[in-house]
Amino acid sequence: MNRLGARLAERIRLYGPIGVAEFMALALADPDDGYYTTREAIGAAGDFITAPEVSQMFGELIGAWCHAAWLALGRPSPVRLVELGPGRGTLMADMLRTAAGDPDFRRAIDLHLVEVSPRMRALQAERLAGSGAQWHDRFADVPAGPLLVVANEFFDALPVHQFVLTRDGWRERVVGIDDAGNLAFGAGPGHPAVDLLPGDAGTARPGAIFEVNLAAEAMMADLSGRIAATGGALLAIDYGTAASRCGDSFQAMTRHGPAPVLERPGEVDLTAHVDFAALAKIASTTGACVLGPTTQGHFLLELGLLDRAGRLGAAADAAGRAEIQAAVERLAGEAAMGRLFKVLAVTSGFTLPGFATPALTGSQGSHTMSGNGDQA
Ligand code: SAH
Repeated sequence: MNRLGARLAERIRLYGPIGVAEFMALALADPDDGYYTTREAIGAAGDFITAPEVSQMFGELIGAWCHAAWLALGRPSPVRLVELGPGRGTLMADMLRTAAGDPDFRRAIDLHLVEVSPRMRALQAERLAGSGAQWHDRFADVPAGPLLVVANEFFDALPVHQFVLTRDGWRERVVGIDDAGNLAFGAGPGHPAVDLLPGDAGTARPGAIFEVNLAAEAMMADLSGRIAATGGALLAIDYGTAASRCGDSFQAMTRHGPAPVLERPGEVDLTAHVDFAALAKIASTTGACVLGPTTQGHFLLELGLLDRAGRLGAAADAAGRAEIQAAVERLAGEAAMGRLFKVLAVTSGFTLPGFATPALTGSQGSHTMSGNGDQA
């Protein structure tokens, strides 16, 4: 057992099992041994690759989307451009390059990055030197005013609660210690409020699991409340489902492959699929306008991915063109990120490009939730 595992086991021995959400929060963000504090998560040398690291086209198209949102808002200056969980800063660097195509827009941008990891902040500061970025621990600290918010692979990192169906009904799923002294899943005394149960809970079999991301829902309520009140647009992109259903998507990644979730806390990335139906529902209760969810494939193609690839390809050699073609396939292909990844937008009352296909509902947007390997 590693150091964080031993500390968690000691704490569980003293105070009893902890919920899955608490385990996830500690494993990711522990100030000494947490994953985001100690690891180089993203990139070829890290544990996973994200869309902006696949190709500059991703950030360029999102930069153009933000520009469209700024025009729809009536060109406010300043506009708070906010990124939640900016990783290596690649997405924002590509967005800002595109934004500079309209100097009025670039001048209006007041840049705010919400990032918990000091390590990641250092990478972002290097990548975004001269951008005027300010960092915050929490979105609540971003100053008031019209907002453009981008969150790519952010919501999946927020701690998820799980519930498991036992003979005594649904109980919170917890992490305790087994007879051999290892961290192990169990069922705790807590049980979910009836309105948290997903649509298919009635037909679930014993052992079935469902997830609720209270942190993600609270975050979405804050974001959409502010957008509805003071104007703005939010774009959330992540792997997940378009319907709230039973399923266990709590997963660990290391070195681009799946890993056991409890074995090496702090050394592996922990995530859960995002329930876009739940996020859309929360957003609409705040009076904001919800677009989607749609798939990343539909979204990027509608935004002009092929056109952008064609123009980049025209200036490249044969190897460069093959690379661009592979990136298009990876970002938008059904078997890669195109279908698993979903896109949801929230605005203060206007539509924006990317959501012309009908919003995904129920079974259309669902998929098996077990495959760790289908993360990019
Ligand atoms: N958006 C980036 C990185 C995704 S990884 C990309 O697409 O490449 C998740 C990012 O969110 C990391 O930068 C991580 O440090 C940050 N993060 C995780 N939990 C967070 C939280 N609760 N608040 C702010 N940032 C968080």
